[in-house]
Amino acid sequence: MRVTAAVLNSYDTPFHVEELEIGEPGAGEVRVKILAAGICHTDGLAQHADLPFPTPGVLGHEGAGVIEKIGQGVTSVKVGDAVIIGWPWCGVCEHCITGNPRYCDQLGPLLAGGGRSDGTTSLSRDGKPIHSHFFGQSSFSTFAIAHESSLVKAPDGIEVEKLGPLACGISTGAGAVFNALKPGLGSTLVVYGTGAVGLAAIMAAKNTGASKIIGVDLHDSRLKLAKKYGATHVINASKQDPVEEVKKICGRLADFALECTGNTKVVRQAIDSVGMLGTACLIGGAPAGAEFSADHLTTLWGKRIVGMLGGESTSKKLISGLLELNAQGRFPYDELLVEYPLSQINEALAASYSGEVLKPVLRMPH
Ligand SMILES: [Zn+2]
Ligand SMILES: [Zn+2]
Repeated sequence: MRVTAAVLNSYDTPFHVEELEIGEPGAGEVRVKILAAGICHTDGLAQHADLPFPTPGVLGHEGAGVIEKIGQGVTSVKVGDAVIIGWPWCGVCEHCITGNPRYCDQLGPLLAGGGRSDGTTSLSRDGKPIHSHFFGQSSFSTFAIAHESSLVKAPDGIEVEKLGPLACGISTGAGAVFNALKPGLGSTLVVYGTGAVGLAAIMAAKNTGASKIIGVDLHDSRLKLAKKYGATHVINASKQDPVEEVKKICGRLADFALECTGNTKVVRQAIDSVGMLGTACLIGGAPAGAEFSADHLTTLWGKRIVGMLGGESTSKKLISGLLELNAQGRFPYDELLVEYPLSQINEALAASYSGEVLKPVLRMPH
């Protein structure tokens, strides 16, 4: 079957929209007619080989659409079901069977191996394979093949085009708060970087007992949004020392800090923002090989520095919960989305990096 897809032909080049062939879904797989796919900064990292996904290949890992065909043995979904494609997981390793599929032992190959575990790809151009299955989907395409275990069924009557970002970026920010930090009543939380991921974290924190939710960014326009979506205080780090300001606002250091930028200087600020028994959680993606430093003595004071992927939990639990909060008006992530046609993928990614757009979503041509 012919598909229109944004192809990354080699690292550090723009995406090129072209026609490819997609194969049939294999055992346990489905073929999804992608209606829209969010762009996450991880796509940008892969474009520049910071997350090494082989080229030529198709990226995209926040796809949502309608199942067009099912492969052998698929029982949990049927043709016509609207779905969000969540993260892939092997289902048999120790972490998968103990309820931690985000940390599946096979995560690296499943996210960025460049195809199925048997080495085949679902995409081709003039008979030559094109790397597929980025995050188990490669959804910058009009159709994508994914494993049924990664799918989350969309509720009836919902606008499917708005659901893709729940597969990664939005869930990562919100899940960090709900699943990793779990701020209790009267606790204090600092969010470094108030782009889409940080704003999702702030929206989530507003649904907890945290009494001080502090947004830190370099842009006043984003800080305004941080306040709109639940920050009780904001700090412009281009004008003030964020750690000193956190101390002033909290009367001491904070209980929790969430680092969403991937900038190692900001990582240090996040670590320095939490005090005794505090937790600094790192979720921003940094370039390959990045290192950060921490103060040794104050880290001994029961401080925890933890990394976190994908909002933890499972795609199904996280996405379903966030959709319920969204329907109740308590998690308005959809207000952050800006639609672009697939043909403008390069402009959309640039707008996301410049901060002009919080969360670009590519609508597929059908
Ligand atoms: Zn596994
Ligand atoms: Zn992502």
